[in-house]
Parts: sequence; C-alpha cells; structure tokens
Amino acid sequence: MRYESVVQVRGLVKRYGSKTAVDGLDLDVRAGTVTAVLGPNGAGKTTTVETCEGYRRPDAGSVRVLGLDPVADAARLRPRIGVMLQSGGVYSGARAGEMLRHMAKLYAHPLDVDALVERLGLGSCGRTGYRRLSGGQQQRLSLAMAVVGRPELLFLDEPTAGLDPQARRATWELIRELRADGVSTVLTTHFMDEAEQLADEVAIIDGGRVAVQGTPEELCRGGAENTLRFTGRPGLDLGALLKALPDGTAAAELTPGSYRITGTVDPELLVTVTSWCAQHGVLAEGIAVERRTLEDVFLELTGKELRR
Ligand code: ATP
Repeated sequence: MRYESVVQVRGLVKRYGSKTAVDGLDLDVRAGTVTAVLGPNGAGKTTTVETCEGYRRPDAGSVRVLGLDPVADAARLRPRIGVMLQSGGVYSGARAGEMLRHMAKLYAHPLDVDALVERLGLGSCGRTGYRRLSGGQQQRLSLAMAVVGRPELLFLDEPTAGLDPQARRATWELIRELRADGVSTVLTTHFMDEAEQLADEVAIIDGGRVAVQGTPEELCRGGAENTLRFTGRPGLDLGALLKALPDGTAAAELTPGSYRITGTVDPELLVTVTSWCAQHGVLAEGIAVERRTLEDVFLELTGKELRR
C-alpha cells in the first residue's frame, strides 16, 4: 500500500507538566523523500519525532505513520520503521557485532550485516562492547541498527552529531542510497549543510510549531533577496546605476570602492550592472552573486539570540 504522506501530523500538542513542548504542530513527510527537521535547542523536534515513533503519547492532535497510529498500532508499525535515537538507545553490555546480528535476525529481509559494518567503518569494533566504543562509533552502530532491517521509514535524530568528516560523508552516502531504494527519512539536525545536502523538504520548528516547510529552494527563494558584490573605483554614482535597475533594488558603497546591490539578482540584473560599469569605464572586480542560504532563512525565522 502506498501513502502520499508517510508521516502526517495534525495539531500535535505535547506537554511535560506545565511546559508545552509541542504546540499545535502540523507536519507532512512525503513518501520516498528525506525531510529535515530543523530548529533551535528546545524547539520540540525530538518530542515530535519520538511521538511519531510511538514513544510518547500526544496530549492532543493526531499522528499517522505509514497510515497507522504509532501507539495503538505499535506492534504493526515497529517492524516497518527504523529508529536512531539521540542517546543511542542501545543496551550497553553487548558486543557491537552481536548486537547488529541479533537485530538483523528480527527482520524478514535484513541488509547484509558484514557489508553494513564495512560501510560504516565498524570493521574493527565487532568484538568490542558497546560501552567501550568511542562516541562516534556508538553513533555509527546506532545508525547501522536503525537501517539493518530495511525499514520503509527511517527516523534519524541528529545522526552525524559528533562524527568525523569521513563518517559524516559515509552516513550521507548511506541515506542517499536508502532514498534511491525508496526509503523515506525524517532527519533532525543542527547542521544546515547536512539539510542542504540531503533534504528534499525542510521543516523549521520553533516554539513547538512548524514555522515553515518546503524544499530548500523554496525556502531560500522568498523573503530577503540575493546580493551582488563587486569592487571598483570609489565614489560611483549609485543613484544613476539604480535608475538602470528594476524597482526594489538597493545599492550601497560599504567601504570606499566596495559595492553591494540587493534585490532580485537574476542574469539580466548582472548584465545591466556590468554593462553600466563598462559604459562608465569601471572594471568591476571580484563580482560575486550570493544566494540566500538555509542558515539565513533559519536565523531570519528563529532570531539570532541564543535560546535559554
Ligand atoms: P534539541 O535541539 O536541544 O535536541 P529539541 O528541539 O529536540 O531540542 P525537545 O527535546 O523536543 O527539543 O524539547 C522541547 C522542550 O520540552 C524543551 O523545553 C525541553 O526542555 C522540554 N522537554 C523535553 N523532554 C522533556 C521531559 N522528558 N521532561 C520535561 N521536559 C522535557
């Protein structure tokens, strides 16, 4: 059975005592996509994901995962989802290899354990007890345990926190391959580059609600515009330059000879600016068109203040 939304959250509320951690949250995860859930510390990401996994009961609202209720239908849902918890969620005494093999046996069509161990650079850790693994190795083992059963839907809570660059890349590669195999992934992360690299959709959560959801392109397109920077002779007549540019474009000389144009910086605008410079005998150097990044969008929506 195919679902358009593998995760459908409507009006989710979750309280811890008097603290409202999730406050009327709506979220959709389309089948076969990677959806990154971003948000400041304490925004409600983990609570939302753990509710989708069936580990927490909603106080209000509805959650459907693969068309099922994660709490009432837990027995049917568990074999179809893979879960990597932030804390690892692994029994600490056992050896890494044994744990993974044991996990694989619980599923009808597991991945090849040896190949997975190799992929994630865990080859030397097979006989090591979980507690003796380094933080990054524990993290990779948790990922291996989440994916070994070939889940239809994968929940990864900060999967690359604390990983070295090689392990991060190996993790990204694995997530991409799983997507190519049709696996849907919900990923919480604080790394904007991770979201930009992997996500088909991004949801930014703040104060227990989704502030915005869309593709990275959609999110980076609207709002504040792109920027064009160049250097040239100091004291250019920016008023005259602006007359040649569309309404809504702004120009400033930031320091003598260093110019910034903001607006809809499209190919046409770039040509207009460089031809205007040419007509005025100005050699525009260091021309750079800077796109709005996911980090810009994140900071615009959630503010630049540190959360307490
Ligand atoms: P982070 O980025 O730091 O992991 P998060 O977005 O995952 O944060 P949550 O862990 O969902 O945020 O927490 C949301 C809010 O609920 C926070 O204010 C947190 O202190 C509170 N909270 C989370 N778990 C509990 C709990 N078990 N008991 C009480 N309060 C909790």
